[in-house]
Amino acid sequence: MRIGNLAGRLVIQVGDEGVVDVEWASGGLFPADPQGVYDRWDELVGWMAAAELPEGQPFEPDELGAPAPRPRQVFGLALNYRDHAAETGAPLPEEPSVFTKFPSAVTGPYGEIELPDDGNVDWEVELVVVMGRGGRHIPHDEAWDRIAGVTVGQDISDRRRQFAGSMPQFSLAKSSPGFAPMGPWLVTPDELDDPDDLALGCSVNGETMQQSRTSQLVFPVPALVERLSAVVPLLPGDVIFTGTPAGVGGTRQPPRYLRPGDELVSHIEGVGEMRHRLIAPH
Ligand code: ZN
Repeated sequence: MRIGNLAGRLVIQVGDEGVVDVEWASGGLFPADPQGVYDRWDELVGWMAAAELPEGQPFEPDELGAPAPRPRQVFGLALNYRDHAAETGAPLPEEPSVFTKFPSAVTGPYGEIELPDDGNVDWEVELVVVMGRGGRHIPHDEAWDRIAGVTVGQDISDRRRQFAGSMPQFSLAKSSPGFAPMGPWLVTPDELDDPDDLALGCSVNGETMQQSRTSQLVFPVPALVERLSAVVPLLPGDVIFTGTPAGVGGTRQPPRYLRPGDELVSHIEGVGEMRHRLIAPH
């Protein structure tokens, strides 16, 4: 199942180019709000399995928003790919290195992202996990059952702000408006041959910057869910940015950052592609 947020309404992708509005097709059984459905995720999966959906309607891709537009918690993982840890000169973490992205940074899979004044803004393509049932103390072998699905994300990061204080401040540096784009679809794990081994990458103005596979994660998705939920409850609709592979701009020689007019394209195999234009501060 592939679900989306079309202009603020929950839709299911049907065929290659159509969508069905879930509130309408379910006769009001499910609400239109895309964030609300995660509280009733297992019910939605059950309904979908039995539903006879009508033909999909054409839609405007530009109207797709984030599949989880208002998560209560957004987790980020630092240094969770071996090659990315190596390029920063940091040792591999023995425990997951966790920060938060503030939920006001969430935006959709297409459109413009405003650069901050005097920032050094970098790209980080990431597999994003959205929790379904969630819970506390989730064992790793149950993790995928508690996850609604995965989507494409960018953990946009202002390196200047990240290292400007007396200690690194990941959360603020990664939370300007638009710094947590995700989409275009939330894809359930059963749609993927192996949800723990997906090709991902991104390009700037057509030049490939990052190219890896999620099988290279230091802490794979089931381990992250187990370790995070050992400390905090994972709530339905919560979002986990699982970390970025090598190829960010800040560790290049010379460093390279996003500029007004740049086009950032991010993709994950079997999930989809996001496309953003960076613009100058207003
Ligand atoms: Zn990241």
